[in-house]
Amino acid sequence: MTIRNDDDRRFAELLHHRSARLGQGDPVTPPLVSAATYHLPRVDQGGFMYGRMSMPTWEEVEAQLAVLEGAPCVAFPSGMGAISAALFACVTAGTRVVMPSDGYYTVRLFVEGFLRPFGVTVDYVPTVAMAEADFTGAGVVYVETPSNPGLDVCDIAAVAARAKAAGAVVIVDNTTLTAVLQRPLDLGADLVVAADTKAPGGHSDVLFGHVAGRDEGLMQRVRDWRKLSGAVPGAFEAWLVHRGIETLEVRLARMCASAQVVAERLAAHPRVRGLRYPGLATDPSHAVMARQARGFGFLIGMELEGEAEAERFLEACPFIARTTSFGSTHTAGERRARWGDAVAPGFLRLSIGVEPVEALWAGIAEGLAA
Ligand SMILES: *Cc1c(COP(=O)(O)O)cnc(C)c1O
Repeated sequence: MTIRNDDDRRFAELLHHRSARLGQGDPVTPPLVSAATYHLPRVDQGGFMYGRMSMPTWEEVEAQLAVLEGAPCVAFPSGMGAISAALFACVTAGTRVVMPSDGYYTVRLFVEGFLRPFGVTVDYVPTVAMAEADFTGAGVVYVETPSNPGLDVCDIAAVAARAKAAGAVVIVDNTTLTAVLQRPLDLGADLVVAADTKAPGGHSDVLFGHVAGRDEGLMQRVRDWRKLSGAVPGAFEAWLVHRGIETLEVRLARMCASAQVVAERLAAHPRVRGLRYPGLATDPSHAVMARQARGFGFLIGMELEGEAEAERFLEACPFIARTTSFGSTHTAGERRARWGDAVAPGFLRLSIGVEPVEALWAGIAEGLAA
């Protein structure tokens, strides 16, 4: 894994992104401004006008995210808010969209429920097959790597090059790694979508999302979508996410390091089957991720004998929160088959948190002994 100095520079800049704009006596942290209306004697002089168009606290989190993404960002009230905005910005009746068959389930529900009825054509391809997929006539190629919950990957640069040669806009859902660990725009993607509900917010207390991109025309469509559809984030949520992102890089460092330790020990445990962690040299996703990401993430997939054994394991672990979602300070786990994911009944997704790793492992070992 190459640790690039320009990444470290960016993580430092992130913590000082307001500095250059501060005047004597200004608060160092962003003010939480929830105003819907702004002093507006004239409409031709710029500034804030009305809360559906722009808000001071969104702009702070967007400026902070822009440092991480290396691109302008537009904030949304959830990851799905960002994903639906990006898709609506890129499709019209007749557009062919190529989507992963194994990515975040709700995206497929959205596409089937709202895009297909408008005449959008949708083809599903497994993430591992994206590299060879037929993109002929595609208007949008959408990828999620590593995929949730299967942790399969595709080579973003290779997919983006082929998709763009076919004339498609490339959208990457970067939720599972965040821009700290992977920067799809640098690999040729046109738009990044992400759920900041996960690791960026990081404390399971806020839903948020964003779209990032360097194509001004596409980003204007995304901005217009937010203003006209009204899918606007709240000021308090933006403020919480800004606070969460301040510690994102340091939390991820702990979470990824702990995930590596836990995965190596799970690999040696006789009860654990079907283990997936891209940081293991034997994992099918290892080589591609070593090339295109800065770390292997904090998600682990594993299988126990069956549904009852998997549930008993979760129940017996003192340090695994039994929740859906991932990326929080606390380790969390759930049996994904309960949502209908195409996985074995005993398949568990673990999201490793920031607990000291030896204490966490002791808790997991307790669960495995139960
Ligand atoms: C959670 C998640 C989303 C949706 O985010 P919400 O904030 O729940 O709307 C989208 N994509 C992936 C990969 C996710 O894990």
